[in-house]
Amino acid sequence: MTLKEIVEKSRRIVFFGGAGVSTESGIPDFRSADGLYRQKYSVPPETMLSAPYFHAHTEEFFSFYREKMLPLWAKPNAAHIKLAEWEHAGKLLAVVTQNIDGLHQAAGSKRVFELHGSIHRNYCTSCGKFYPAQFIAESTGVPRCGCGGVIKPDVVLYGEQLDPDTVNGALAAIAAADTLIVAGTSLTVYPAAGFIDYFRGENLILINRDETPLDASCTLVVHGKVGEVLGALPSFTENL
Ligand code: NAD
Repeated sequence: MTLKEIVEKSRRIVFFGGAGVSTESGIPDFRSADGLYRQKYSVPPETMLSAPYFHAHTEEFFSFYREKMLPLWAKPNAAHIKLAEWEHAGKLLAVVTQNIDGLHQAAGSKRVFELHGSIHRNYCTSCGKFYPAQFIAESTGVPRCGCGGVIKPDVVLYGEQLDPDTVNGALAAIAAADTLIVAGTSLTVYPAAGFIDYFRGENLILINRDETPLDASCTLVVHGKVGEVLGALPSFTENL
């Protein structure tokens, strides 16, 4: 069966995505040739994005974070838009994403499980007051609340636990899916990459530019750009 035929007959699609879903929006991923991990830093990005580094070197954390992790200019691409249309058409149960950029919601998706949090939520570590991403982007040095507390992005840093409600929601959606589309992820960041094992449905689809450890176990593998591949599929909104 082709991807189009599988999608046409599926009723409970779940999409599991990673940084590769947003590269066509202009946001670099981590592990591609032009990804963030191939750029040269005195401290590796994994270290700078870790909880111990955030606490010990807060100012350096924010200078890296503001420069590389806050693409507030980015717009949803054809992949984000198609998934939002499928949800609206009643074909897609949920998006489970490792991304923190909020582009699925910007495209109109409602049921999004953000395993690694979001740049759009930021909170004071003293009083809990919330701040938008723009506040962090416009701040200098260490962003502080009116109460004096440090404001922390609600993103899961290396060494931090995933939010249990988000994990439970994501796993329940994956377990209920008839088709799981995995796309734009190197499947190397755990525990997120292990979530795919909860899929019990019929069609496991992989859309990725490069090979992944999952290629051998899939019903269908498409090596290509996820925006181009999903963008060419029907929207299913014509009967609504
Ligand atoms: P990764 O960088 O490890 O891997 C990205 C994968 O996507 C690669 O296999 C690459 O070949 C593929 N890819 C890149 N562009 C593609 C495209 N247009 N179409 C299809 N495939 C494409 O990313 P990961 O597995 O998500 O793990 C990295 C971690 O980095 C995640 O935890 C995520 O939170 C974080 N991250 C998020 C963003 C974001 O929010 N946009 C950006 C960078 C990193």
